[in-house]
Amino acid sequence: MSLLVNEIFYSIQGESIYSGIPCVFVRLTGCNLRCSYCDTAYAYYEGVELKIEEILSGVDNYNCPLIEITGGEPLLQDETPLLINRLLEKKYEVLLETNGSININSVDSRCIKIVDIKCPSSGENDKNDLENLKRLNQKDQIKFVIERREDYDFAKEIIKLISPGFPMKNVLFSPVIEQIHSSQLAEWLLEDRLRVRLQIQLHKIIWPDKEKGV
Ligand code: SF4
Repeated sequence: MSLLVNEIFYSIQGESIYSGIPCVFVRLTGCNLRCSYCDTAYAYYEGVELKIEEILSGVDNYNCPLIEITGGEPLLQDETPLLINRLLEKKYEVLLETNGSININSVDSRCIKIVDIKCPSSGENDKNDLENLKRLNQKDQIKFVIERREDYDFAKEIIKLISPGFPMKNVLFSPVIEQIHSSQLAEWLLEDRLRVRLQIQLHKIIWPDKEKGV
């Protein structure tokens, strides 16, 4: 049982309600999408095959209770749900970042899913599996990456589809900082009184010049 792994690294979580907390990241190789703003294209193909036991011992080395499985798109690999189970068995708190195009039901409910909904400027919004909105539990999170007003309006429409009772503080609106100033997005949110969370990619502020391992 093995997975193709692009990198394992220790950093600060920067793209969820766990933002700011130290975290070990397992970045898996491969993605089925090609978002216009993708900053992890190096994970499309590069990677080494590691047995699940090797990944577990790799993350154990960091002595950190929070692990995030990311990509690429982690759910493209059949063994990813098993890796998550093994991490949960070892009492890790586990986050899964997924691009929202693949059914999340294969993932253990104890794992916190951070599910992207792709907006028009990504060029991949027709790949969203919106049924995932019904598969979320109360700890999960939904993330919209916003590059322009069209994306914001799109996200506003999608959040109307979220099940009543889902905590809106777990809905993240995240600006592409090279394209839109976060103050612009903040103004729109305040004007519309949306009770979602403005999320700024923290690792890009801390390490603006670093392209990998953040
Ligand atoms: S889903 Fe993520 S890794 Fe895949 S192309 Fe989009 S931004 Fe890049």
